[in-house]
Amino acid sequence: MKVHPDVATDRDAEDKFKQVNEAYEVLSDPNKRAIFDRGGDPMSHGPGGDPFANMGGFSGFGSYGGQGFDIGDLFGAMFGQATTTRGPKSRVRRGQDQLIRTKLTLPEAVFGVTKPVTFDTYLVCDSCSGSGSRDNREPVTCTQCNGRGEVVVSQRSILGEIRTSQPCPACQGYGNIIPEPCPECSGHGRIPQQRTINVKIPGGVDTGNRVHLQGQGEVGPGAGPAGDLYVEIQVQPHDVFRRDHENLEMVVRLPMSLAALGTQIDIDTLESELPDCPDERRQVHLDVPAGTQSGSRLVINGHGVPSLRANRRGENPRGDLGITMLVQTPTKLDSQQRDLLAQLAQLRGEAGPEVLTKPEEKGFFNRLKDAFSG
Ligand SMILES: [Zn+2]
Ligand SMILES: [Zn+2]
Repeated sequence: MKVHPDVATDRDAEDKFKQVNEAYEVLSDPNKRAIFDRGGDPMSHGPGGDPFANMGGFSGFGSYGGQGFDIGDLFGAMFGQATTTRGPKSRVRRGQDQLIRTKLTLPEAVFGVTKPVTFDTYLVCDSCSGSGSRDNREPVTCTQCNGRGEVVVSQRSILGEIRTSQPCPACQGYGNIIPEPCPECSGHGRIPQQRTINVKIPGGVDTGNRVHLQGQGEVGPGAGPAGDLYVEIQVQPHDVFRRDHENLEMVVRLPMSLAALGTQIDIDTLESELPDCPDERRQVHLDVPAGTQSGSRLVINGHGVPSLRANRRGENPRGDLGITMLVQTPTKLDSQQRDLLAQLAQLRGEAGPEVLTKPEEKGFFNRLKDAFSG
């Protein structure tokens, strides 16, 4: 009732209500419940759900899933039971959401990858199929509290007798008792286990993006519906390429003579690091025009990072590859080289050094800084 959209003022309430409904739908539908019991995801609309859901926009991790919730409480509240009497706790609760991190190389992040991730979680106990009982018997009503899950305790005080209700110690508030708990899970219906799943990561992800896998988190107590799994991406730095939004950037050192004369370079693409890269995409050809200045940036269109959104629509526009030229001044000249350069300077009638006025306006410092940052 607290999260019902007619009542709640909380901005998250509508989402919470949807999640509550979803949980209820699962518990009340034996088919869907059976899917959960097998560790699957009855709410997914395709295999593995929608890995793009929540991409980028997700910010509220843990606000809802962090503590699990008691479905008995929520539905009691929604279907008109007074909220002051709690009644017995449900043994079945939704599992917690889980956040795990995975490292990707830059090519994996840029072009997408299906990657196995291993994490510690809770799964439905195989021995008892989640019932928590050794012999699959139904729990029996607790005789100490008659199934209410709470007992009234009287205490004398200077104000007279005080009566308080407490969770029943015999059944821990469940109102029933599993006569012979499953030895594997001690009656909890779930067991801690390491699990490895293949996660499909779309091309174009960056550090901090999270892939949302519905129903792949922890199975809840009492084999309750699994929480969600979030896989957070961490992209490792690359030796050559640096990512800048949808562009890839690199720096090429160019001898002074070639900068003046112009040249051509074949550049190994980021794609060439993929095992299945077609030959024609292994290299790109760059024409360096004569008179190229140090710090200038040449661009090869369409060799950057695919846009996540375009990827989702089945299109594939990519950013650009930016190549910043670092013109190298020769050092360790022998006498012949020194003479040639002196001759060249004389032929060109080159004046001495010149102080640059307002270099900031020409973007000179920024270009250099951008090329080497990151
Ligand atoms: Zn068990
Ligand atoms: Zn009891």
